[in-house]
Amino acid sequence: MIATPESLDMHLGLLRRLGAEFVSMDTWLDSQRKNKMLPRFAVAVTFDDGWQDNYEYAFPLLKKHRVPATIFLVSKRINTSWQFWPEQVLDLLINHAHQLDQEALQWLRPYLVDMPANKGSSSPYTILQADSVINRLKALDDHIIEVHLELSRNSIPALIQANPNARPLLNKHELDTMLTSGLVTFGAHTRHHYRLNHLADPIDLENEIAGSHKDLEELGLKPVSIFCYPNGNITSNGEQLVQKHFTAACTTERGWNKALSNPLGLRRFNFHDGNGSTPLNFLATLGKP
Ligand SMILES: [Zn+2]
Repeated sequence: MIATPESLDMHLGLLRRLGAEFVSMDTWLDSQRKNKMLPRFAVAVTFDDGWQDNYEYAFPLLKKHRVPATIFLVSKRINTSWQFWPEQVLDLLINHAHQLDQEALQWLRPYLVDMPANKGSSSPYTILQADSVINRLKALDDHIIEVHLELSRNSIPALIQANPNARPLLNKHELDTMLTSGLVTFGAHTRHHYRLNHLADPIDLENEIAGSHKDLEELGLKPVSIFCYPNGNITSNGEQLVQKHFTAACTTERGWNKALSNPLGLRRFNFHDGNGSTPLNFLATLGKP
């Protein structure tokens, strides 16, 4: 899910050459709401989760190309060295696979993939294998996975070692700098990145949706008008709450948005180096129905 700075630079340059008009989501949504004429080929850029590399690598490119963007933040993870559970699982399977036989990791066993017979059950996973384990784990609630991981770390000291591939999250200074530039606005991506379809308790749902809006406003990151569903999971209760606190919401569904599109179910194209590292790949992804 990562794009190199070179790829992002190419994407922005290529879109501009193709005639794209870069707009902020708020501008486009405002025109849509007021039934104003929308640009024929408008592009709004978004980034999910609030990684520090958005500031380090993407922000200079946004300035270079004069492109506005919206970054969706996980409000309780700002200013922390938190790692999302998929990152923790990736680290575990790639850097600590020899620990998988330990009792404290027994909870993970039903979700592991079968390794080839010539490889031991505790040899390092490839990214693709780790990715299937992560997908299987999505059957569990995010919070349950976090608790399991926490307990495993407490029992296996080696797991506490710093992950060499850890991606830090944005801090307040970086957020303020980007906001002051006028190019970047922020939206909410819940408080803890819990998938809404796994939150049965209405109090938890309210906490994640309304709470993230409140947190970002309190951090002075106004206006906070757009929400982004973790993992793209929408529920009707979730959507109702989102509508109460936000004017629009992004999904992970691929596609273009039009004048009559539902602003609470906005589509996007998800670019990473797996589908956009060359101009041809990029255009092929953009051209998919
Ligand atoms: Zn996310």
